[in-house]
Amino acid sequence: MHRILNYLNPIVRLGDQKYSIFFPLFFTLVLCFLIDLLVYRILNNPSAAGLYAIILPLATIIYFSFRDGIRGGVIASVITILFYIYIVSFHPTPNQTPEQRTTQWLTIVALGFLFLLIAGTIGWLKHTIDRLIHQEANEKRRLQAILQQLPVGVLITDSKGKIIQGNKQVEVILGRKMREGLTAGKDSINNATVKSSSDNLLDQSNKPVLPRQWPLAQTLVSKKPVVGKEFTLISENGKKVHLQISASVIKNSEGKVIAAASIINDITLQKELEERKDDFVNMASHELKTPITSMKLYMESLLEGVKKLKDERVTKAAKSIKYQTDRLQVLVSDLLDVSRIQTGKLMFSKEEFRLDGLIIETVESLQGVLNKQKIYISGKTPIKVYADKFRIYQVITNLLTNASKYSPNDSEIKVSIKRNGKKALVGVADQGIGISRDQQKKIFEKLYQVTDSKEKTFPGLGMGLYISKEIIKRHKGEIWVESEKGKGSTFFFTLPLR
Ligand code: ADP
Repeated sequence: MHRILNYLNPIVRLGDQKYSIFFPLFFTLVLCFLIDLLVYRILNNPSAAGLYAIILPLATIIYFSFRDGIRGGVIASVITILFYIYIVSFHPTPNQTPEQRTTQWLTIVALGFLFLLIAGTIGWLKHTIDRLIHQEANEKRRLQAILQQLPVGVLITDSKGKIIQGNKQVEVILGRKMREGLTAGKDSINNATVKSSSDNLLDQSNKPVLPRQWPLAQTLVSKKPVVGKEFTLISENGKKVHLQISASVIKNSEGKVIAAASIINDITLQKELEERKDDFVNMASHELKTPITSMKLYMESLLEGVKKLKDERVTKAAKSIKYQTDRLQVLVSDLLDVSRIQTGKLMFSKEEFRLDGLIIETVESLQGVLNKQKIYISGKTPIKVYADKFRIYQVITNLLTNASKYSPNDSEIKVSIKRNGKKALVGVADQGIGISRDQQKKIFEKLYQVTDSKEKTFPGLGMGLYISKEIIKRHKGEIWVESEKGKGSTFFFTLPLR
């Protein structure tokens, strides 16, 4: 029954571009036969011919023009006109004058034109609608094919967060089918099909990701794009899948949010390579540490012996070897620290000490080494903190050596220390090359160095500030820089007071 209704319903066929010839031909012929039977044999009333033979065929012509296009409408019109010719020829009206007969033929010609015009117009409309629907369907199919074959996972939601589309890659990455009707923000990929564990999507600090923290939900709330957020998905068999996810809302031309899209990248391979590289750096620095330490020890006794020789060239060479060995030791220890940070193994042994005292000691010991610039200290008030003394010494040394490294020889470096609420605030100001605003956040990233073609290059690996930031952060303090290009920089850090 349903199939028959679909076959008859012209609306269901819109866009199909299927036009039958047989059905309009057969139907109109049967209709004409039935009208003939009704008017001339059952009712035997030729004056009823006008009513049945015009209204019913006209409806048929309109129906077939809409159902089967110009072809259907023209077939129904031609058969109807032939039927009129048959009526006029085989059922002539008695006592007809020649003028009446001419009028009858003229009426048939006029009706013929009218029917063909109707068939042509409706049929043409039908063809146009079909073509447009077909084009749109093709475009949709093309987009679907592109979406499905993209090498990254794509999820699209409506403006309320309900997932309306996702490509195959999403399922490949997640290793399971997406549940239908999922809503970002209410439920998430986490509990898509896994009932037992709703905490299998973890953020970078290994905490379970709540549905509202899912990038699609975040972008829908904030209307701002979420770029390259990293997550770890623990699959059902315990395998770790590292994901990088970006999401953004999609707006219409009036600026109204109509959807949101998210791109999911599987970066597991990249992460594994990174982990292997970190492991290698860790191993290499451990292996280097021992020979460098003994080299340093031997160098010290060698230097003593060399000094007794009183040969200036040899003494200079030995001093230079010692200096380079010291540098190598700092470098290796920085490398080890970076790898400890990466693997979460940077440990602190905290004690109570006077920060002002540590700063004075550090400045005094460094002033001898960095005798290019004069270092001043302001605000030597006693300030006690509870921290890892060696690590804080490391931060101050790093800031001071940087201030010296990136400043001209005859400039000044000012170190300030004061209380600021419940925190100690330390500042290291130089009169050096300065750092542009867009670089100020980046210099605290791992291995980041400012590269400026106009500036001379300075030796370094970009590890110092990254390590300092991690040390201060782990002490619940903050570290930042205020600077203007060409006018010097001031690095600040805070530490909670004891
Ligand atoms: P490194 O000094 O070994 O390159 P850091 O992590 O200590 O590494 O510093 C990162 C970058 O920040 C440096 O390469 C430099 O470009 C910039 N920088 C750090 N301190 C200063 C400063 N006082 N003045 C200007 N630029 C600085």
